[in-house]
Amino acid sequence: ADAHLAAMERARVLNAYVLETPEQARAMARQADGRIAKGEGGPLNGLPLGVKDLFATEGTRTTACSRILDDFKPPYESTVTSQLFTRDGAVMLGKLNNDEFAMGSSNETSCFGPVLNPWRRQASDAKLVPGGSSGGSASAVAAGLCLGATATDTGGSIRQPAAFTGTVGIKPTYGRCSRWGIVAFASSLDQAGPIARTVRDAAILLRSMAGHDPKDTTSVDRAVPDYEAVVGKSVKGMKIGLPREYRLDGMPAEIEKLWSQGADWLKAAGAELVEVSLPHTKYALPAYYIVAPAEASSNLARYDGVRYGARAAGNNIVEMYENTRAIGFGAEVRRRIMIGTYVLSAGYYDAYYLRAQKVRTLIKKDFEDCYAAGVDAILTPATPSAAFGIGEKAGSDPIEMYLNDIFTVTANMAGLPGISVPAGKDAQGLPLGLQLIGRPFDEETLLSLGAIIE
Ligand code: GLN
Repeated sequence: ADAHLAAMERARVLNAYVLETPEQARAMARQADGRIAKGEGGPLNGLPLGVKDLFATEGTRTTACSRILDDFKPPYESTVTSQLFTRDGAVMLGKLNNDEFAMGSSNETSCFGPVLNPWRRQASDAKLVPGGSSGGSASAVAAGLCLGATATDTGGSIRQPAAFTGTVGIKPTYGRCSRWGIVAFASSLDQAGPIARTVRDAAILLRSMAGHDPKDTTSVDRAVPDYEAVVGKSVKGMKIGLPREYRLDGMPAEIEKLWSQGADWLKAAGAELVEVSLPHTKYALPAYYIVAPAEASSNLARYDGVRYGARAAGNNIVEMYENTRAIGFGAEVRRRIMIGTYVLSAGYYDAYYLRAQKVRTLIKKDFEDCYAAGVDAILTPATPSAAFGIGEKAGSDPIEMYLNDIFTVTANMAGLPGISVPAGKDAQGLPLGLQLIGRPFDEETLLSLGAIIE
């Protein structure tokens, strides 16, 4: 823990942590040492981890990187963090930066300012984004400011930043990790998962984060496998699908090359590669950007200046609500609330929200058909490009930014597990990731395959 706390101090320029908790960390580390000396304690005893600021931590400021939560100190702990720290003995180093309410793909919407990617293009000082929304988690892991970090993924927020920073990120099946105590963005899409340096580390962390929780009604009661045990396991005979529809027009040559390189590695390890079709892929992004804002607008209704964090003045209660929300929410969050309330409003509900839900069912069915035909996992690029520059896509057209999620949103729409593993570099020396999407509750296959590629 001490080595990581020192590294955090040296790397403050990255803006990865929004809160450092050194005293707490040292106390937790001492307790872990005590347990180790007595031969007791959990599987993560003493391991220093960072926590995305979307996870409620009891008595420790939790903001979702939004002004509206101000210095909210939750009186409760999220299930995932309580399993990591209280049950399994890990040490919390602090809270990590993210896009405001996890809305974004570059970590530029945080009220604490952008996070920098520790990677740079060759012979260039240009500052790059770490991806988002779990940009602080990815940057901190890549820069060695923690051994691993918690993250969340609603449309790619674990996998895309992992790809941009050369780290491993796994979004488990919807229902695998409890959402209890995680600030809600889009409840039917949100899932927690780890970002780590290696597939093995990700497997170890996922085992501690996963598991049934009666406090989350969508949490699934299934035994949590020993994920670490499958890392290094043979993938001989596995059938890997390469979806035709992910071969986008204008896809950079280096992404295409990486993709076929990844396929070759899996083939060399004994897997069988087959072309598959996921015909509704092109509707995934537009449908996601209806479903996610719709749920967000509903979830964010609770921030009214009464129950949590910030409160602005007003001459009456309506004015107080309006002023609080105007001051408290950033531009991207306000945009999502407006889109969300619009697509849910009477008269538009059928045309947008209901239609998007139908599309979602079709996307899910595309995957089901593939898996029913014997495919074990699907291999795709994780992102359409390497990390881009700070400010490069955060301009006036939000669609530019949304397009970054093109390969990742499908897994959330279908509730399926997805992993991003570092697989190579672009011409500028920046990391690129490949994604594997699996059958429901089959994170193990993804970890076995990911270990071949990394
Ligand atoms: N970039 C996507 C969005 O802005 C996904 C974010 C996420 O997964 N939390 O909605």
